[in-house]
Amino acid sequence: MKPAPFEYHLPSSLGDAVKLLDTLDDARILAGGQSLIPMMNLRVVTPSHLVDLGQLSELCGINETASSLRIGAMTTQRQLERSELVRTCCPLLAAAVEHVGHQQTRNRGTIGGSLCHLDPGAELPVAAAALDAKLKVVGINGPRALRFEEFPDGYLTTSLDPGEILTEIEVRKAFPHEGHAFIEFNQRNADFAVVSVAILVTVVDERIGQIRIAVGGVSYAPIRLIEAEAALAGNSADDQTVDTAEEIASAVPCQGDEVSPAEFRQHLCGVLVRRALKQAIERAKAA
Ligand code: FAD
Repeated sequence: MKPAPFEYHLPSSLGDAVKLLDTLDDARILAGGQSLIPMMNLRVVTPSHLVDLGQLSELCGINETASSLRIGAMTTQRQLERSELVRTCCPLLAAAVEHVGHQQTRNRGTIGGSLCHLDPGAELPVAAAALDAKLKVVGINGPRALRFEEFPDGYLTTSLDPGEILTEIEVRKAFPHEGHAFIEFNQRNADFAVVSVAILVTVVDERIGQIRIAVGGVSYAPIRLIEAEAALAGNSADDQTVDTAEEIASAVPCQGDEVSPAEFRQHLCGVLVRRALKQAIERAKAA
């Protein structure tokens, strides 16, 4: 099918884009188009206006600060995947982006689009949750900042106000003695994840220091296993702790569907947390 008729706009500055979005009724932002265009072709969404951010170079790029990477929302998934800076400073993000779609879709798809589309099976939102990413947005009422945990607001819905543009995603650099792991289960390669797990853990003197566990595919947005994190911090980094993590993760309430029911996802949650924690601990010990 083809999309319903719409008017296309290509603003040359962020300010113009904000003004357009404030004045146009029923406008939608276009980034890489890898989710929005298929939805328009299926007439799932029928915006009257498309505001293409493709000319806004100020929304592209990966910049390093002393403790973080500041990533423009229009940075493509492929640019993240090929970035030495991301690989060395934030290996969790590098590991997650490799699972996103196909190279062809990563060439166009953006990190901002992935977070704003917020598919429950998307990988970058799970990494953003584990990294406690900080988001910068701008709209007609000016700029504001929010943490990723404040961003999801329902199924395929964010807490962006109408007309707001996500401009930057800031992720922290890896801590000393920190290991990471990003593991997922999907039906076919390059599919959205049925369940995905992102883990960051520090290990000092064989003991777990800081730990963050984020799980995707079990609710409309990634969830943090806060209970498991609290139970594991301070424990020795051994198989008994991994068993505890699997036990807690296997009891996480999950939403399911007819293809992958809740019980199946719950089982996957336990298995994938086990595998990811083992991998992250090994990497932390070697870090
Ligand atoms: P678009 O499709 O342009 O926009 C998506 C939504 O976000 C729209 O509602 C748009 O208005 C909004 N938006 C975009 N940018 C902004 C912004 N800066 N501020 C405010 N709103 C914004 N994704 C995965 O995570 N995992 C997969 O395995 C996967 N497999 C795929 C396989 C195929 C064949 C295809 C076509 C896509 C796949 N995707 C997958 C989706 C892909 O990663 C998309 O790129 C991503 O979901 C959306 O990013 P985008 O830049 O293309 O955004």
